[in-house]
Amino acid sequence: VKLVLFGAPGCGKGTQAKELKDKYQLDIISLGDILRQEVQKKSELGQQVQGYMAKGALVPDEIVAKVLEVNLADDNFVLEGYPRTYEQALHLDKILKKRNLDLDYFIYLDVSAQTVVNRLQLRRVCRKCGAIFHLKNMPPKVEDRCDYCSGELMQRDDDKPQVIRQRLEVFNKQSNPIVDFYKDKGKLFAVDANAEKDEVFARIVRYLDKE
Ligand SMILES: [Zn+2]
Repeated sequence: VKLVLFGAPGCGKGTQAKELKDKYQLDIISLGDILRQEVQKKSELGQQVQGYMAKGALVPDEIVAKVLEVNLADDNFVLEGYPRTYEQALHLDKILKKRNLDLDYFIYLDVSAQTVVNRLQLRRVCRKCGAIFHLKNMPPKVEDRCDYCSGELMQRDDDKPQVIRQRLEVFNKQSNPIVDFYKDKGKLFAVDANAEKDEVFARIVRYLDKE
């Protein structure tokens, strides 16, 4: 089965991707990871990617698409972190068509701004070692102290409510055309992802197993 997992920052994509991988024996293809791996391999593509990153520039869509193309499994995958724009959705479509493949489902983890704010504002990061905690789901053993190095825990600016809301606005603007694109193709499965992660996973499984 070939899936895209899509949703706003804080929607739980990473967690759901792992669960899907285990249940359906899928490759997780996370765009961030494959870009980093390509750079580490020092492949020709990786060196191009590195060049843009070193300048602090965005890696152009064409190059990102090539990295995806060489790393995309033919059969069973869950793709995460891509597409993020309508143009990237078109790139993905082209890559799959070239191999006579088609996406099975575009799973949209739909969360409200309030849910994301509630989840992310409880996140804490260690100033010293960068370990991540969550005051509700993964609290530190000692208040405000890192379990690993006893460093002080802090809240990242990115996780403050006002910044979260701004990031969500940007996300929504870019996501509408992508969601419509897959809806028109009949691939869209939008799942209410405001619930606890196990319940969200159960909803996805029910849908996939029914089809
Ligand atoms: Zn630490």
